[in-house]
Amino acid sequence: MLKYDVIIVGAGIVGLATAYKMLEKKPGLKLCLIEKEEGVSRHQTGNNSGVIHSGIYYKPGSLKALNCIKGYKMLLEFCDANGISYDICGKVIVATDESELGALGVLFDKGIANGLEGLKMLSAGELKEYEPHIAGIKGIHVPQTGIIDYMEVSKKIAELVNEMGAEIRFSERLDGIYEKNGDVLVHTNKNNYSSKILVTCAGLQSDRVAKLNNKDLKLRIVPFRGEYYKIKEDKKYLVKNLIYPVPDPQFPFLGVHYTRKMNGEIEAGPNAVFAFKREGYKKTDIDFGDMWESMAWGGFMTIARKYWKMGMMEFYRSFSKPAFTRSLQRLTPDVRESDLEEGGAGVRAQACDNKGNLVDDFLFVENERVLHVCNAPSPAATSCFSVTQRRAFLK
Ligand SMILES: Cc1cc2nc3c(=O)[nH]c(=O)nc-3n(C[C@H](O)[C@H](O)[C@H](O)COP(=O)(O)OP(=O)(O)OC[C@H]3O[C@@H](n4cnc5c(N)ncnc54)[C@H](O)[C@@H]3O)c2cc1C
Repeated sequence: MLKYDVIIVGAGIVGLATAYKMLEKKPGLKLCLIEKEEGVSRHQTGNNSGVIHSGIYYKPGSLKALNCIKGYKMLLEFCDANGISYDICGKVIVATDESELGALGVLFDKGIANGLEGLKMLSAGELKEYEPHIAGIKGIHVPQTGIIDYMEVSKKIAELVNEMGAEIRFSERLDGIYEKNGDVLVHTNKNNYSSKILVTCAGLQSDRVAKLNNKDLKLRIVPFRGEYYKIKEDKKYLVKNLIYPVPDPQFPFLGVHYTRKMNGEIEAGPNAVFAFKREGYKKTDIDFGDMWESMAWGGFMTIARKYWKMGMMEFYRSFSKPAFTRSLQRLTPDVRESDLEEGGAGVRAQACDNKGNLVDDFLFVENERVLHVCNAPSPAATSCFSVTQRRAFLK
C-alpha cells in the first residue's frame, strides 16, 4: 500500500493546476498524480481552441463567471512567471441578423455585470475596423480575450510539480475508491494507495470515476465532439483574431467561430456533434458501451427531444463541408469551401442530469476527504488554477 497526503486523478490541465496550487501552498506535501494516458492533457485540454476566455458568457455569480475572472488572472500570472507566451488580442462577437440583437444585448450586460472593462458595442462600420472581412450588423468587442497553447501550459505545470516533489504516474487507471478510518483507499490497475485527500479531475470519465464511491450519482457525461477546419494559408487574411457568432442561449456551446492560434493557424469550429465514443476523435469512432451508457440514461431522451433539430443539423454540418462553409459565410461572406482544409477535433465532457438538463455550471460531488470535479467544460482551461479552490483542504 503506497501512502500519500494527496492523490489527484487526471493529468489534464485541471488536475495539474490543482496539484501545483496545493504544492505552492503546502510545500513538502506528499502528492501523487495518476493519469491513465502516457502523457499530460491528451483529451479535452490538448484538443481545445486555445482561447483565454474573458467571462462575458456566464451568468453573473455562477461558478463559471467567478472562476473565469479569477482564473484568468491566475493563468496570466503563471505564464508571466514561467515564460509562457500568450496574446491578449481581443475578440468580436457578431450579430448577423436582427433576431440576434436581443441576445447580443444580454451578453453585453452580462459582461458588465461580471466586471469586464472596456467592452464596446460596435456598429456594422466599427466592426470592420477590427475585422475588415466580417459582415455583421452589430457586435461587441471584448478586449480581454486572448489565445494560448494549453498543452504548453500543461507541460510546464507538470515539470514544476515534479520539481516540487510530486510524482506523476502515467499509464495507470483509477478503478476503485473506498473510504476507511479517515483515509481514502485508491485502487488502480497497477497499485493500491492510501491517501488523506483524493481529488478527481477526470474530464470525459468524471461520472464513472465519481460513481466509484457515489453509487447513486445522478449525473452522466454526454460527449459532444467539436470538429475544426483550418483556413488555407492564402486566405488567412480573412481573419485577424477571433470572430464569434452570438451563441444560441438554449445551448451551452458558443457556435462555430474563428480562432487565431498561437502557431499562426486560423481555425474554424468547433461544431458540437453528439459523439458515439467518449474519447473518439474521428467521425467514424463508435464505442457501443459508451453509446449505450449515454442513450440509456434517464435524461438522454429528454435531451434528444429538446435538441433533436439542432442535433440533426450538427450531424449534417459535420458530414457536409458546404453546410459548414455556409455557417462561416454568415460571419465572413468571402470564405469558400476550397479555403478550408480538415483540422483536428476535441470531445467535450458535458454533464447531464437525470431530468435531461445539460448542466451549465461547474459541478462537484464532494465530502470532507474527496472532491470529484464532475462538470468542468469551457472555460475550465482558462480557470484551471481556480476551479478546484473550493474546499479548505485545497485553499
Ligand atoms: C473542442 C473543445 C474546445 C474548447 N475550447 C476551450 C477554450 O478555448 N478555452 C477554455 O478555457 N476551455 C476550452 N475548452 C474546455 C477545456 O478544454 C476543458 O474545460 C478543460 O480542458 C478540462 O480539463 P480537465 O483537466 O478537467 O479535463 P481533461 O483535459 O479531459 O483531462 C482529464 C484527464 O483525466 C484522465 N483520466 C480520466 N479517467 C481516468 C482514470 N480512471 N484514471 C486515470 N486518469 C483518468 C484523462 O486521461 C485525462 O488526461 C474546450 C474543450 C473542447 C473539447
